[in-house]
Amino acid sequence: MNELFDRYHAVQAKIHDACKVAGRNIEDVTLVAVSKFHPIGAIAAVASYGQKDFGENYIQEALAKIAQLPQLNWHAIGNIQSKKAKDIVGKFQLLHALSSHSLCEELAKRMSPHEKQDVLIQVNIGHEDQKSGILPENMLEYTQKIKAYANIQISGFMCIPPFNDDACATRPYFTKMRQLRDHIEKELDIVLPHLSMGMSGDFTEAICEGATIIRVGTDIFGQRT
Ligand SMILES: *Cc1c(COP(=O)(O)O)cnc(C)c1O
Repeated sequence: MNELFDRYHAVQAKIHDACKVAGRNIEDVTLVAVSKFHPIGAIAAVASYGQKDFGENYIQEALAKIAQLPQLNWHAIGNIQSKKAKDIVGKFQLLHALSSHSLCEELAKRMSPHEKQDVLIQVNIGHEDQKSGILPENMLEYTQKIKAYANIQISGFMCIPPFNDDACATRPYFTKMRQLRDHIEKELDIVLPHLSMGMSGDFTEAICEGATIIRVGTDIFGQRT
């Protein structure tokens, strides 16, 4: 009896089923195990099942965990204040929630010319006042501006849609994300391979709408305390 093991494999099975339904390759969907507030022991256990990618929201907590398990791929999935730029250079495989020029500027100051930081721009897809991210209607202009930073590699977009118990109600936001990405790719003649969308409650729907990265915490680690 090992709950963590069972939950992890149940999530993997659900991803597998969603890919089958959507006609997608399982290799095209990366699972980021969101480990915020969970102890290093639980992370090491999930890593021992073969999981490589882990996501954290808070930089201090993330850096402590990265120091202990530096061989894993770490994702910063929350907002990052620009004053933290000096702490994060070279630490994260991907920043998911970019929505500030000042962070790009601070990062650029601390990176050598050939270094690149992969980022996703956070889209406020539901036009919610309390959420960070760029409004969809401003994304074309915003993406163009961020593209000008030589050290910043825009790999795609990320969103946290309005909360709803019913994942079917969330799905239209995922559709909008895909359409927005396709539109901006065309307009700017760039490639934006990644859509980071879908969490414990709705990752099946996100996969059906083209998510390439899903961020799953509770379904793997259990409730956060
Ligand atoms: C906490 C968090 C998640 C994981 O949420 P669960 O519902 O526990 O799967 C995903 N993305 C972001 C940005 C988060 O803050």
